[in-house]
Amino acid sequence: MATGILTIDLDALISNWRALNAQTDCATAAVVKADGYGLGADRVTRALMRAGVTQFFVAAAEEGAALRQSVGPDPEINIFGGHMRGDTDMISDMGLTPMLNSVDQIVRHVEALPAHPFGVQLDTGMNRLGLEPAEWSAVRDLVLQQGPTLLMSHLACADDPEHPMNPHQLAEFKEMTDGLNVPRSLSATGGILLGSDYHFDLTRPGVGLYGGMPFVDASPVVNLRIPIIQVRDVAEGESVGYGNSWIATRDSKVATIAAGYADGILRAMGGRVDTFSGEDRCPMIGRISMDLIAVDVTDMAEPPREVELLGLHQSVDTLADAAGTIGYEILTSMGQRYQRRYKST
Ligand SMILES: *Cc1c(COP(=O)(O)O)cnc(C)c1O
Repeated sequence: MATGILTIDLDALISNWRALNAQTDCATAAVVKADGYGLGADRVTRALMRAGVTQFFVAAAEEGAALRQSVGPDPEINIFGGHMRGDTDMISDMGLTPMLNSVDQIVRHVEALPAHPFGVQLDTGMNRLGLEPAEWSAVRDLVLQQGPTLLMSHLACADDPEHPMNPHQLAEFKEMTDGLNVPRSLSATGGILLGSDYHFDLTRPGVGLYGGMPFVDASPVVNLRIPIIQVRDVAEGESVGYGNSWIATRDSKVATIAAGYADGILRAMGGRVDTFSGEDRCPMIGRISMDLIAVDVTDMAEPPREVELLGLHQSVDTLADAAGTIGYEILTSMGQRYQRRYKST
């Protein structure tokens, strides 16, 4: 076995969903786009369904269709990308609910699938997807006659609780939706933590379920162990890896592990993260290459057979900080070569 093993703790995932759900008095969906943030959308969705989750969101209709095939007819599968040209049959056959995000999409949907459920996305300032206030006023009454399932918008700065954009978007959203008698949704993980004003009828957490910031109280969901292919003695003064960027300052033992940037261990992390064996810290040394990384195991009595990169000692956000990115990108970059194992009691 020469690939990393990514163990996904489905109990921790469920406990994160319950913890976020417990912060609100409204319904809580789960966002499983990008293959469940890299962890496997079908397994993640089925685990959450067993815990009582009935509403899911993905980015594209293709993702929704694949999910429908693996999880069956029951859960509601909502599509952030809405109703794109060419998607009508998929939306209809697979029972997907598009979150329509432009007047064009509304026209396309209502003409092609008049009785088929849909939601509407409103732009409250992020300027990514959704109808602007003026567009919404123009089509609102016609849209409401078609019975939308949800009116939603998305917060641009919810990971920063003090940001004035949050109350600004909240006020815009209320202005556009107050009194319309349609279920509303504004918040993802960050918005849930902003408090009850932001909750409305449904929240849509993603990253917090998978153990990432800004949900600081999340239980870790992923553990990544990487096998050691070989251990070698490196004499003081010898170099390791591309570009000779690490030079031994003492006689060393160096382990070569079976993962690299092709597995999502971003090159920018080089020299900034450690691996672990039990409680022992084994620093990564030299450049991260495509399939291999060197690890300093000089101080270990017995070189281990594998090291841990993600787990109790180091979270996705620790790795993200080391690479100058966010936990979301670490999760969604996790290698397809890893063997994914699912743990639940
Ligand atoms: C990705 C996404 C979410 C989930 O966001 P998290 O920050 O991962 O909780 C919710 N809503 C929309 C529109 C999204 O694109």
